[in-house]
Amino acid sequence: MARYTGPVCRLCRREGTKLYLKGDRCISSKCSVSKRSSAPGQHGAYRRKIGEYGRQLREKQKARRYYGVLEKQFKNYFEIADRKEGMTGENLLQQLEIRFDNIVYRMGMAQSRKEARQLVRHGHFRINDRKANIPSIKLKVGDVVSLKESSRDLVKFKELAEDLKDRIIPKWLEVDKTNITAKVLALPTREDIDFPFEEQLIVELYSK
Ligand code: SF4
Repeated sequence: MARYTGPVCRLCRREGTKLYLKGDRCISSKCSVSKRSSAPGQHGAYRRKIGEYGRQLREKQKARRYYGVLEKQFKNYFEIADRKEGMTGENLLQQLEIRFDNIVYRMGMAQSRKEARQLVRHGHFRINDRKANIPSIKLKVGDVVSLKESSRDLVKFKELAEDLKDRIIPKWLEVDKTNITAKVLALPTREDIDFPFEEQLIVELYSK
């Protein structure tokens, strides 16, 4: 399935919650979910009964859209999570959190995951001082992401670096705000992931 290129605020309205896909706009009064909470489309305002399968499907779509991954990739993450020891739902969210693009976003060097993915593809970041431009690379404990030397003077990164002081950084990442690096201190646990997913519903959907 191709990547969705339509208006992203529709996705939030479809899921009935903020998915934070547009950076600063998401925390402003311009956010479409804050202004209009109904689902998009002609019949969006009608309340529809949603069954068990529908809830599971919506939860999966919510997580997939939040992290911006394709259906097939998401299913692969689930299969890896299922094979690992521990809670499958937590493992799944962990797989998504340790993606390269998500870490660039979490360290405050992009306003959204979509932007982080683009910046990674354009080669602005390095992993352990080596070239890396694949957004889906999964980082390990001890890995360090850094902004490429030649990108530091770009206005975009200067502005983002300015905002870093106000940014809340998850405790499993250690961010050096001067040198613009982020080190993975530990794998994130469920408590570290602030988005209210009901990951058990996703597990139930894929376990049918
Ligand atoms: Fe979603 Fe952000 Fe658009 Fe609000 S502004 S609807 S959170 S993408």
